[in-house]
Amino acid sequence: MNIYISCGHCLKERISLEFYPVEVNDEGVYELTCKSGHKTTSFLQNAHFEILFELGAKAFLDGYTREAISSFAASLERFYEFCIRAIVEQKEIDIKAFDDTWKYVASQSERQLGAFYFCYLSFFNEVPEKIPQKWIELRNNVIHKGHIPTLKKTEEYAEYLYGYMMKILTRVKKGCGQNVFKVLTKKQKLSNTEEMNRNAFTIPTAIDVSVRLPEFNKDDFKQAMEKVKNNKWIQAVSKS
Ligand SMILES: [Zn+2]
Repeated sequence: MNIYISCGHCLKERISLEFYPVEVNDEGVYELTCKSGHKTTSFLQNAHFEILFELGAKAFLDGYTREAISSFAASLERFYEFCIRAIVEQKEIDIKAFDDTWKYVASQSERQLGAFYFCYLSFFNEVPEKIPQKWIELRNNVIHKGHIPTLKKTEEYAEYLYGYMMKILTRVKKGCGQNVFKVLTKKQKLSNTEEMNRNAFTIPTAIDVSVRLPEFNKDDFKQAMEKVKNNKWIQAVSKS
């Protein structure tokens, strides 16, 4: 899967508005040498769970139901991490201390879910919504038992997860919106790359976490899928 980025130098100097394809990676950090020879480091400001959801949506729209559910489920897990980071940021916790603590739960998603539930409870003083058992079973059957879900079931699962995440994100953004921005921009703040060679960018996605309230969460699931269908900023790369 490729995303399209531009050269920060060329943009700042108004030399060119050309976009270059780069393969999506886990880090969200992209080294680019443009046609004019500028070497820049670009930081993707979309959250990782947002990209995973987008990949799931693309797979769903192309009819790959197992791949879609696998990406949607991974998106949900990274979504919990994102919310934990945004809520914990309220206490201005040192990122190294956070990362060191995260290592205790990093390999077990059930522990991360527990951390999310109690972060949510302590911040909103409310019991968090639990994902219905039927969706947990669907995810487990796909990931662990080779189950091939129907397109309809995949759509229902995706629509539920989209609604669930958007609802919680809206609350998190209302409660600690500045922290959401801090979590999204942390990578480039910690980078040693020279200011001139640094470039931050965001691509439009179904979730669009960086959109500010009250514009955030305006699309229903069908509109969000329509957006994915027409999204030229992230595209599959064929092997041949
Ligand atoms: Zn350039």
